[in-house]
Amino acid sequence: MQVAKNKVVGIQYTLRNDEGQTLDSSEGRDALYYIHGVGQLIPGLEEALEGKTTGDKLQVSIPPAKGYGERETALIQTISRGQFQADVEIEKGMQFHAQSGGQPIVVTVVDIKGDEVTIDGNHALAGVNLNFEVEIAEVRDATASELDHGHVHGPGGHAH
Ligand code: ZN
Repeated sequence: MQVAKNKVVGIQYTLRNDEGQTLDSSEGRDALYYIHGVGQLIPGLEEALEGKTTGDKLQVSIPPAKGYGERETALIQTISRGQFQADVEIEKGMQFHAQSGGQPIVVTVVDIKGDEVTIDGNHALAGVNLNFEVEIAEVRDATASELDHGHVHGPGGHAH
């Protein structure tokens, strides 16, 4: 069966940056299962997988525009320590949820200087070329309830 819209696809993958550093991998875990064509994966990866079948292996290099987007300097802000709740210990690297234009985003504290806290709302992989090595473990039809719920059920998915 070929990868197409509304198929459930299981993939084993390793993601590296241009320096060859492994950023993420399914190695030692279950395959990643997703519903194809509904925006669950980054666009560049969905495009590369379209039409492939079980057992296919591919290497694909995805630019930020088809990955997690370019880094936006507007999402990097310096705010005062006082804008955090007083009882929260602010540390470099800590992450919290915020809203940007009505969208939920994850914000990371990237620098602290005295009373000034610099936060970055970019995705950790924004601006990064994504080099994927992918092997397709399974392709099957999605069930009606999977399409209805918008997620995969069973192995690698929701158990309910
Ligand atoms: Zn469900």
